[in-house]
Amino acid sequence: MSDTPNPQTSKPLADRIAVVTGASRGIGRAAALALAEAGAHVIAVARTQGALEELDDAIRQTGGSATLVPLDLTDYDAIDRLGAAIHERWGRLDILVGNAGVLGRLMPLGHVEPKLWASVMDVNLTANWRLIRSLDPLLRRSEAGRAIFITSGAAWSCKAYWGPYAVSKAALEALVRTYAAETATTPIRAMLVNPGPLRTAMRRAAMPGEDPETLRTPEDLAPHIVRLANPAWTESGLIYDFPTDWVLTPQKPA
Ligand code: NAP
Repeated sequence: MSDTPNPQTSKPLADRIAVVTGASRGIGRAAALALAEAGAHVIAVARTQGALEELDDAIRQTGGSATLVPLDLTDYDAIDRLGAAIHERWGRLDILVGNAGVLGRLMPLGHVEPKLWASVMDVNLTANWRLIRSLDPLLRRSEAGRAIFITSGAAWSCKAYWGPYAVSKAALEALVRTYAAETATTPIRAMLVNPGPLRTAMRRAAMPGEDPETLRTPEDLAPHIVRLANPAWTESGLIYDFPTDWVLTPQKPA
């Protein structure tokens, strides 16, 4: 495991410290690799230690550096310990990518077991609030704190059988927009990203009949996450929509 910040200062995110959750596969892994390639020191969070170690190897091969944090995001005390450890080691955090998520299972609302409902809310919503709660003081100590959270079109489409997932993502959007409002007068910029359908394990579980080859990949999205993480990014409280490549402004109901 390598854990010293990247000394290459010519890269756009050189010397920046970035937490990426769900870094073991899919969108989080691609984002972690792209951020590290752009010069950031990546603090990679997920439960699967072996996959984090493979990520670390891949990051090192591109000359980057990472710190691995095998952690279950529903262990909220562990999130607080992560904040304390970052404070002790670096004294600040520049980039938070709240990406980890679970689909749950697709079924009518009336069939959802309370345990399944809670497990989706715990990862997709409450863990992101706990990350904000624990890491906000550190983002405020950066001269350009960037908080980026991965939402879904499901938050808006409210399709049948996607209930717990859709509700968790709609609530995540309210959470991040509230955080953006609370940090409006600081250098922090808080953004949501709607990836659209991407070729990952989660998408395969949701749409088993779909040909994955027809989908874009997490690697296609990753440069946009790097763009949002850059100190030059100015928007806050909005959604970057990858399918249209637009920044969407939530509409007030008429
Ligand atoms: P994925 O391949 O299933 O990856 C999910 C990641 O979340 C994994 O790294 C997993 O790591 C981590 N994770 C899940 N539960 C966790 C927990 N309790 N503690 C720590 N880490 C946990 O999914 P993906 O498609 O890349 O999705 C990433 C994000 O994009 C999610 O928020 C998802 O809702 C969103 N999204 C995806 C799509 C799409 O088409 N793929 C579309 C819209 C939105 P471990 O299992 O190792 O813990």
